[in-house]
Amino acid sequence: MRYRDLSYWLSDLDEPLTPRAGLPGDTDADVAIVGAGYTGLWTAYYLAEADPTLRVVVLEREIAGYGASGRNGGWCSALFPTSLPALARRHGRDRALAMQRAMHATVGEVGRVVAAEGVDCDWAAGGTVLLARSRAQLDRARSAVAEARAYGLTDDDLVLLDAAEAGARCAADGVRGGTYTPHCAAVHPAKLVRGLARAVERRGVRVFERTPVTEMRPGAAVTPAGVVRAPVVVRATEGFTPALPGHRRTVAPVYSLMVATPPLPAETWARIGLARRETFADHRHVIVYGQRTADDRLAFGGRGAPYHYGSRVRPGFDREPRVFGALRRALGELFPVLGPEPPVTHAWGGPLGVARDWAASVGLDRGTGSAWAGGYVGDGVGTSNLAGRTLADLIRGVESDLTALPWVGHRSPRWEPEPLRWLAINAGLRVMSSADAREHRTDRPSRRAALFTRFLGH
Ligand SMILES: Cc1cc2nc3c(=O)[nH]c(=O)nc-3n(C[C@H](O)[C@H](O)[C@H](O)COP(=O)(O)OP(=O)(O)OC[C@H]3O[C@@H](n4cnc5c(N)ncnc54)[C@H](O)[C@@H]3O)c2cc1C
Repeated sequence: MRYRDLSYWLSDLDEPLTPRAGLPGDTDADVAIVGAGYTGLWTAYYLAEADPTLRVVVLEREIAGYGASGRNGGWCSALFPTSLPALARRHGRDRALAMQRAMHATVGEVGRVVAAEGVDCDWAAGGTVLLARSRAQLDRARSAVAEARAYGLTDDDLVLLDAAEAGARCAADGVRGGTYTPHCAAVHPAKLVRGLARAVERRGVRVFERTPVTEMRPGAAVTPAGVVRAPVVVRATEGFTPALPGHRRTVAPVYSLMVATPPLPAETWARIGLARRETFADHRHVIVYGQRTADDRLAFGGRGAPYHYGSRVRPGFDREPRVFGALRRALGELFPVLGPEPPVTHAWGGPLGVARDWAASVGLDRGTGSAWAGGYVGDGVGTSNLAGRTLADLIRGVESDLTALPWVGHRSPRWEPEPLRWLAINAGLRVMSSADAREHRTDRPSRRAALFTRFLGH
């Protein structure tokens, strides 16, 4: 497999992406971690930092960064898949707010570690501008700010922008306003995950690549090359989880796809803005997201690719010409200076993990030693760091502010069996896409989309 072809980010690395050695045979460890994406590697990092004597082993089926961590939009944000009201309904207002504050602090923590470890990942803490380009989107922008205020968040967390203020940050077509939060940094995702793998190795963690785990059971991770016996086994496999025995319905793999333009000239950037490399999107339903890369490309992505029957994950699903075409047109609509179908040099995608109740979670079953983290939907770049710190505390038996957060130990229900799962997810995607098209045409909020969001409870 040519790992470089998996994303613009992996293709941009200076290193050869030669796989590390595989597991040599049966091995004893204190903690076995399955998956070398951000979740697995942050967990290994904080375990090794807290207790250098721990024997931590990471088992990766391909190479570190093969999954979503090497392919994403590079928003290291404080976004959490469950909204504040939904968290407050389940856990109370104070704990909901504690969760949001922990996410805010996480962005700074990632920035601190990448600086301390010399992980050069093009870190730019420029915040996020979310544009409103229709009346419906403006309504959602206002509601988002009102909701934040109701929970005691201030202008320092999220501020409403008028048309001129939003356009000054990101001069997209038809901007009527928007919101801005400072709690986000743009990163080069592959440099982050590959740098993290090296940082954990420097701390004595052993990372074995091309080592698929075929079964996780209490006290052991089983691979064709041997068994790793460890009292704690961590599942850090996110969108790939359904392929593990017993986990077909744990999360649904939903695809997000991206395109990248060639480096754009200074004149074009003078018309677009994003001078501080703010990450950007708008308030539409089917999420799109973009960043100005350190080498002056636009990297732009979105959901909307179909969910595949039986929660299957295949390399071919990363490429969906219809979605790539839609992303290019959306980029051209946002920035007419690029033309109606802006040139792109790279197009790719990958699976992310969605829990049935849309709730990310992290936990350790003390009886079996089975630990997990995931279900981040599209917000795993920052959240996985919080997960790694939290798992390190849980595994070491430390009670902390982190282990008291409401997502700890949360058990999401399993997804419905097929064909219900396929019908429901793809119907949801269609409702939201047609709502965006209708809002664009009529400039009115879609009631169907609002009902659907309420039905999902987030
Ligand atoms: C296109 C795209 C754009 C995104 N944009 C953003 C964004 O801008 N901001 C944001 O916050 N989030 C974003 N996300 C989501 C984010 O990338 C993920 O939530 C995050 O990377 C998840 O990290 P992870 O380590 O849990 O999973 P992954 O990075 O997917 O890693 C899981 C690893 O487990 C390995 N594995 C799986 N099964 C096995 C097995 N049986 N044995 C051994 N190894 C195994 C896989 O090979 C993989 O390397 C995006 C996702 C995609 C796909």
